[in-house]
Amino acid sequence: MRKVLSGNEAIARGAYEAGVKVVSSYPGTPSSEITDFVKRYGEIYCEWAVNEKVALEVAIGASLAGRRSMTCMKHVGLNVAADPLMTLSYTGVNGGLVILVADDPNMFSSQNEQDSRNYARFAKVPLLEPSDSNEAKEFVKKAFEISEKFCTPVIVRSVTRLSHSMSAVDLGERVEVTSKGLENNIPKWVMVPANGRVRHVFVEERLKELQTYNSESDLVVEEIISNEIGIITSGIPYQYVKEALPEASVLKLGMVWPLPLDKIVDFSKKVKKLYVVEELDPIIETELLAKGLKLKKIKRPLTGELSVDAVKKLFGIKVNKYKTTVKELPNRPPNMCPGCSHRGMFYAISKLKLFAAGDIGCYTLGLLPPLSAINSTVCMGASISMAHGIDRASDGEYAKKSVAVIGDSTFFHTGINGLLNSVYNKGCSTVVILDNRTTGMTGHQPNPGTGITIRGEESPRINFELLCRAFGIKNVVTVDPFDVDECIRVLKEETSKEELSVIITNRPCIFADRTVITNPYFIDADKCTGCTACTRLGCPAITWDKKKKIAMIDESLCTGCGLCPKVCRFNAIFQRGVK
Ligand code: SF4
Ligand code: SF4
Repeated sequence: MRKVLSGNEAIARGAYEAGVKVVSSYPGTPSSEITDFVKRYGEIYCEWAVNEKVALEVAIGASLAGRRSMTCMKHVGLNVAADPLMTLSYTGVNGGLVILVADDPNMFSSQNEQDSRNYARFAKVPLLEPSDSNEAKEFVKKAFEISEKFCTPVIVRSVTRLSHSMSAVDLGERVEVTSKGLENNIPKWVMVPANGRVRHVFVEERLKELQTYNSESDLVVEEIISNEIGIITSGIPYQYVKEALPEASVLKLGMVWPLPLDKIVDFSKKVKKLYVVEELDPIIETELLAKGLKLKKIKRPLTGELSVDAVKKLFGIKVNKYKTTVKELPNRPPNMCPGCSHRGMFYAISKLKLFAAGDIGCYTLGLLPPLSAINSTVCMGASISMAHGIDRASDGEYAKKSVAVIGDSTFFHTGINGLLNSVYNKGCSTVVILDNRTTGMTGHQPNPGTGITIRGEESPRINFELLCRAFGIKNVVTVDPFDVDECIRVLKEETSKEELSVIITNRPCIFADRTVITNPYFIDADKCTGCTACTRLGCPAITWDKKKKIAMIDESLCTGCGLCPKVCRFNAIFQRGVK
């Protein structure tokens, strides 16, 4: 049967057909939907782990127990999982193990644009790169075969364009793979130096074998059309090359690490001009130049996505100009939703002009005007440790003017380590945990603070207040983020203390709990003075009447959170149906 599937759905299907038993992942755009699709298959145990390192370690355990396992993450997640990955390369696997990593060229929703192919080279493990949904499914299956054949974890790399685009997929049946049983092999699985040295030799040998395998496999496809131009490419850029240069011969690589050098040398002899078209880092190009191949240079950008037009321009081909009826589309800057439970706390932070070490999640959007409440964002969990660094660098002086701001899921991911570090090292920063009871930005996945698992089953709900007190933190306060005055009072009080404080907010995301949505508010035009206090909340439901110079509420957007009346000093905002 054929079905049109997104790349992410096809990857999940590939895991199902490959007989995978365990999938453990941490959500991250553009990879998040894969595990949500895996959840449909009752044959697979799946879970949201607290971070990618833990997810990979769960997959390693499942592999050690003899079952096929997979973990899915975005590119920056692989940084978190890099520690187990590097040693997993040495131990190898028992049941097949696939690491699905989705890169984000052009940074549609990421803090950097790193190219995960570097990790395959670094960890000395094979990396497969599909170019459409059908290949995504087939390559996942192939990756499990390679994993078991060569005793190696295999990285399958997707990119946003593949994960989120759709194409036809041939569906197959699931293969029930019997367990290989728990492998008790100390020289292989206990990486003390004496064993590690032996395994390193194995890793180097394995890489050579993989290279030969790649050259001889059907993962590399030669399409000879003419002998004028030959292009070596892989993944999504293959699609652009085929459309932009239909007359060129192409060598399409399915496994981009280790490279099938013999096959590439063969191909280079069949064409007059040899090019490499790849996205982001010049990985293939660098290797081929090192091998002494004569490549024609193209001025390819090292940033952003390629496209058909971009490839045409690289080869000096005229690009069609398209006429549009709309001259300029209105700007649609990202914003927190109407009724977002983070807004009140950010308003308070901004009002007090505190320096906020931020983190990764919906609340990163607090950086945008009019709130302009975030001053730094580096990576998952960095807020608390950075605030500690700020405090230590200034002998506690800046701690009185700064806070760390982190969401619930990010706190569980890696923020918890930072907090533990601050406790241990007697820090005096103020940490604000914005608990909206979901992993908002990636699509509202549950986490240990929500009390439910990926399949909606009840599980223990971690209580932030008790957890922080168990860490030995004396100053732990829970506030209603919609009570702006109280937020300001608590922030002032806690930042003034010369010891560590944690402030926890207690309102759910409007998508985590729809019951919080209530009657909308409206603004009494006669009472509004146009002071703009409410517009400075940045709520998308609050608009500005340019002619009358007063604020208005779009009642179709308003969730009735009740925040704006708390900042209006002229009592001009009322709730429908409430006298
Ligand atoms: S009550 Fe005010 S702040 Fe809350 S959603 Fe409605 S307009 Fe926005
Ligand atoms: S805060 Fe009140 S008075 Fe000021 S603009 Fe908003 S509705 Fe009008």
